[in-house]
Amino acid sequence: MTAQTTDQTSADETSANHTERPSAGRPARAGQRRQVGRKKGEGQWALGYREPLNANEQSKKDDNPLHVRDRIINIYAKRGFDSIDPGDLRGRFRWFGLYTQRRPGIDGGKTATLEPEELDDRYFMLRIRIDGGALSTQQLKVIAGISTDFARGTADLTDRQNIQLHWIRIEDVPEIWERLETVGLDTVEACGDSPRVILGSPVAGIAADEIINGDPAIREINQRFIGSPEFSNLPRKFKTAISGHPSQDVVPQINDISFVGVRHPEHGPGFDLWVGGGLSTNPMFAVRLGAWVPLEEVADVWAGVIAIFRDYGYRRLRHRARIKFLVADWGPEKFRQVLEDEYLHRPLIDGPEPETPVSPGDHIGVHQQKDGRYFVGFTAIAGRVSGEVLAKVAETVEAHGSCRVRTTPMQKLLVLDVTESEVGGLIADLAGLGLSAETGAWRRSVMACTGIEFCKLAIVETKARAKNLVEELERRLGDLDSPITVNLNGCPNSCARIQVADIGLKGQLVAGPGGGQVPGFQVHLGGGLGLDAGFGRKLRGHKVTAEELPDYVERVAKAYLADRQQGERFAQ
Ligand code: SF4
Repeated sequence: MTAQTTDQTSADETSANHTERPSAGRPARAGQRRQVGRKKGEGQWALGYREPLNANEQSKKDDNPLHVRDRIINIYAKRGFDSIDPGDLRGRFRWFGLYTQRRPGIDGGKTATLEPEELDDRYFMLRIRIDGGALSTQQLKVIAGISTDFARGTADLTDRQNIQLHWIRIEDVPEIWERLETVGLDTVEACGDSPRVILGSPVAGIAADEIINGDPAIREINQRFIGSPEFSNLPRKFKTAISGHPSQDVVPQINDISFVGVRHPEHGPGFDLWVGGGLSTNPMFAVRLGAWVPLEEVADVWAGVIAIFRDYGYRRLRHRARIKFLVADWGPEKFRQVLEDEYLHRPLIDGPEPETPVSPGDHIGVHQQKDGRYFVGFTAIAGRVSGEVLAKVAETVEAHGSCRVRTTPMQKLLVLDVTESEVGGLIADLAGLGLSAETGAWRRSVMACTGIEFCKLAIVETKARAKNLVEELERRLGDLDSPITVNLNGCPNSCARIQVADIGLKGQLVAGPGGGQVPGFQVHLGGGLGLDAGFGRKLRGHKVTAEELPDYVERVAKAYLADRQQGERFAQ
């Protein structure tokens, strides 16, 4: 697979082998993240490197990827798959949430050896952008209908609050977009070198313990900047997280930019600004710039930071084209100075550090809202649902008097605005659809990426394996009083955030019992966010076959349960 075919870069085998536990969200000490100065040009526009230095950059220069929308509607959907220009198919389509999915029947051993066109199916994955995860039941019904009519019933809740469909034909894309647009949804910049979906607290505006509601800032960024040519050609993807909830429920440590709710002693509630987080190759936690941003200035500050990335971000090498590398080289002091001097033309207000969150922030179970009603968080194992389930969820939620749901960055689903008298009935009815609010720790804390079923980069299967793992562990060990997070990736990338899980499983081929290679996982142990922020340790030679996975996790869990001190968490 070449770099042009996807925005997901193969991870460096050794990149996640971090044993230090850096403090997420804290300013880096001078030199701590600085790397040796690079002599070669990095393709930074602001330094005069305007000539494209690789095929991805050339493609974006040849034609703004946002223009591909018209070609999809007016040419490709009418003439069919074979009419699609390869540069659009494997490049610009991503700006509208479209990737070709993996051709069925190709095993994981062939992933790295085949050419992109040999892996391409004639069907697409379609990612629906849901900023802040906020959906009405009407919108949910429309997505469910699209799933049933055009996606063979597939629907996955992703860990970036999107809903992802599969088996999409190019001929159906215009009608899918029309249906989405009738309810205010779209797929614009759901993928590509662009500002991706904005993570937002799933309980924004309703949580009783909220510091500040970030929803207005998410809406403003979306309206002003998403789909704008101003930011449609970035060095690579740009991920945003905004939450005013004290649980920091949007994984802010591993986003390119995060606004984290905090109370300023003089100015009141606002946001602490973090930049430069990301996993995949060379995982890094975001660092604080030490600046407090009021709600009404979030969109402008966001635009300043993304403009720095556009202008100063490294474009020469794909694997160094994330903002985290620029932040690492500059350090937070210089980054803030450039932001203030060249982009905002004013100083930012110094601000305090947010308190470290203690709760997991997945919002599972029943919680009272500040208006006296309740929100209820439900688990579908590893985010797998279906169009049929989503349609029934929408009907059930309405039958119990609500019209709002939210997806979460943990692959979960929340129902908002439920009156006390309806809570029990809602929980019972959704349990019948496989969505559990009274869920055990295993079901609650397993996440999985798309895996070999649909992903062209995958080496192993993940979703079905996650479901099997949860059911086995529940049967063998019952519930846990202290959750152990288990995240499964289908390849060395980190779509399911393996480096920050208690048990992170990186899909690869491993030695099988008979000597040949079989699907399995490299194990990372002891990663976490929040109170236990740190990257898991990759133990050399610590690999497990897919077949052995339940036995392995059972052994690790039993060892932890037997040896732990009072109150000791897994990552400690
Ligand atoms: Fe991401 Fe999983 Fe695909 Fe790898 S296999 S690129 S981790 S979705």
